[in-house]
Amino acid sequence: MTKGLRLVLFGPPGAGKGTQAQLLRERLNLTHISSGDLFRHHLGLGTPLGLRAKEYMNRGDLVPDEVTIDIILEKVMSIPSDGGFILDGFPRNPNQADVLDKKLAADSRDLDVVVHLKVSESELLNRLGGRYICRDCQSPHSIGEGEDTTDKKCDQCGAGLYQRDDDAPAAVMKRIEVYNEETTPLLGFYQQRGVLVEIPGDHSVDRVNKLIMTALDS
Ligand code: AMP
Repeated sequence: MTKGLRLVLFGPPGAGKGTQAQLLRERLNLTHISSGDLFRHHLGLGTPLGLRAKEYMNRGDLVPDEVTIDIILEKVMSIPSDGGFILDGFPRNPNQADVLDKKLAADSRDLDVVVHLKVSESELLNRLGGRYICRDCQSPHSIGEGEDTTDKKCDQCGAGLYQRDDDAPAAVMKRIEVYNEETTPLLGFYQQRGVLVEIPGDHSVDRVNKLIMTALDS
């Protein structure tokens, strides 16, 4: 049996990681692990983890590593060793990348590819302003300016949509700043390993997906 692809989707908030992860998951039969979705799930349930994460998330800061790393690694390592996965939103700083790297190497399942979705800041701000999330399955949806959102339903599962607290302008600016300072240093780390693929992400969902699929095929 061929092994599944081990992929990291990398990019700033609003780059389209969640949307592309959904498409890739279905097409390539991969397990999708999103750290943000996991925190939002816990937040919705009001668990101690969710309550702890909330204050950081609402400010646009990273949730501390001692809270984040273990729960994500547990999910990754629970996937059968020949199973593929998409990591979306993790790793997000050099320590997370280092711990992930060591854990995967110890199990002989290094990452195959890190896909960097490059999107301009103006496009990010534009997208995040119109982003609505499904209350149930957390799929992201894009709503145009002035469009009525009252009766909008999730196109995946039919549940209602909401706007994330951390998509408010102040939190968005902070998240972009945190990305630039704490997350972008990982690009050099993955480039050195020869696994980094750069994808221009300012295009439509379909176009970006085609660019990713073409890059993965080659
Ligand atoms: P996201 O849905 O990926 O934009 O993540 C939403 C928020 O969850 C982030 O702004 C952080 O507060 C938190 N978060 C998600 N992933 C991580 C991570 N790998 N490390 C720390 N905090 C994270």
